[in-house]
Amino acid sequence: METTAKRKFNVREIREDFPALRQLIYGKSLIYFDNGATSQKPQFVLDAINKYYSKDNANIHRGVHLLSQRATTEYEDARKTIAQYINAKTSDEVIFTKGTTDAINLVAFSFGELLTAGDEIVISAMEHHSNIVPWQMLCERKGLTLRVIPINKHGEIIQEEYEKILSKKTKLVAITQISNTLGTINPVKEMIAKAHAVGAKFLVDGAQSIQHMQIDVRDLDCDFFVFSGHKVFGPTGIGVLYGKEALLDKMPPYQGGGDMIQKVTFDRTTYNELPYKFEAGTPHIAGAICLGKAFEYLNQFDLEAIKAYENELLDYAQDLLLTFEDMILVGDSKKKTSVVSFNVEGVHPFDMGTLLDKQGIAVRTGHHCTQPLMDFFKIPGTVRASFAFYNTKEEIDVFIAAVERSINMLK
Ligand SMILES: *Cc1c(COP(=O)(O)O)cnc(C)c1O
Repeated sequence: METTAKRKFNVREIREDFPALRQLIYGKSLIYFDNGATSQKPQFVLDAINKYYSKDNANIHRGVHLLSQRATTEYEDARKTIAQYINAKTSDEVIFTKGTTDAINLVAFSFGELLTAGDEIVISAMEHHSNIVPWQMLCERKGLTLRVIPINKHGEIIQEEYEKILSKKTKLVAITQISNTLGTINPVKEMIAKAHAVGAKFLVDGAQSIQHMQIDVRDLDCDFFVFSGHKVFGPTGIGVLYGKEALLDKMPPYQGGGDMIQKVTFDRTTYNELPYKFEAGTPHIAGAICLGKAFEYLNQFDLEAIKAYENELLDYAQDLLLTFEDMILVGDSKKKTSVVSFNVEGVHPFDMGTLLDKQGIAVRTGHHCTQPLMDFFKIPGTVRASFAFYNTKEEIDVFIAAVERSINMLK
C-alpha cells in the first residue's frame, strides 16, 4: 500500500475496510466501543495473515530455501516499517515482543539486572497492572523501592509531586502516555526531560497512544517505548519494545534459546547482536509481518485528521452523557483521548454493560486492569466506551438511547 498523497478521511469508507463491523449482535448492528481493550482489524491486515500462511510460511533467519528467505525479508521489512513509523534511529532498536506486558517484563528483568539495592523505580497512580506488577516483582527481587506519583481528582498526574519524588536514587520512570481507564493524555515529553535531569531512564507505555497520535520516539527522547499490536489494528500476540540502541546494548538477554546466540559451547555462549539478542526462539512471524501491514494501513491517513475526528466523538459522547441525572464521568482531564469512563449512581457498571450488550453495544466494564486507580476514586469499576476512527456520531446516538433504556430498567 504505497501511497504518497494521504487518503481523505471518510468514515463511511473506513468502515468498509473493517469486516467485523458488518455484523448483527442479537439482531442489532454491532456498535463496537471497546477499542481500548482491542481494536478491529482491516481487511488489508486480514489478507496479509492469509497470504503469509498460504504462501510464505517458513521459519526465518535459518533456511537457505526461498520460502525462508521470503519470510525473513517480510519479517525484517515489518521491523523497518515500524522503526520508521515511530522514528527510531535504526530498526535494530525495534524488538518484537508478545505485546506491551511482555515488553515491560523484558525491561523489568533485563534493565533490572543493572540496578542495585536502594535504587528507585517511579510509576504513577493511573498505571495498568502490567506497568505495576513487573516493577513490584523487580523491587522484590533486587531490593529496590517503588515510588508512586499521586493523581488529582480530574485524573491527572500531580507534576509537583513527581518533581519531589525524583532524586539521584531514581533509575527508571515508567508512565503511560494515555490512561486506558480515564483517557488522560500525560505530558510525557516534559516528564522525560525531568527524569533525565536526575539521570533516570524513562519508559513510555504507549499501549493507548500509538493508535491515537503520531509517535516520535526521538522527539520524545524516551529510553523505552512499548506497545501492543492488537490495539493498533494489528494481530494479538505481537508487540514492540523500542529502546535506545546504546542502552539495549548494555542490557543482558531476557530469555535464552535459538536465534539470540552467536556461538554456543558448553563452556561459554556468546550472544547475538541487536535486535536478535532479545528475540529468543521462533518469533510470531505472521504477527510481526501483519503488524507492519497495520502501520502501512495507518500510514495512508493524516493522523491529525483522525485525532480531530476522535476528539469530536469524545466531546459529542461526553456532552450527551452529562445530560443524564446522577451521571458521573470518571476522569475529566482537559487533555483526553476518545475514552469515556462513567458511572450512574445506583447502577452497577456490570449490569449496565450486560444490558448494553443485549442492545448490540460492546463496552468494557470493571476495573480495566487498574485496581489502584479504582481504589483512588473509591469505586468498584466503571463503564468504559472507547472510540476508534471507524466509530460514528450515529452510533453514539444509539448508545445514548441504550444507556437511557438501561438506566430506566435498572433504577
Ligand atoms: C492494554 C494495555 C496494557 C497491556 O497490554 P497487553 O496487550 O495486554 O500486553 C498496558 N498498558 C496499557 C495502558 C494498556 O492499555
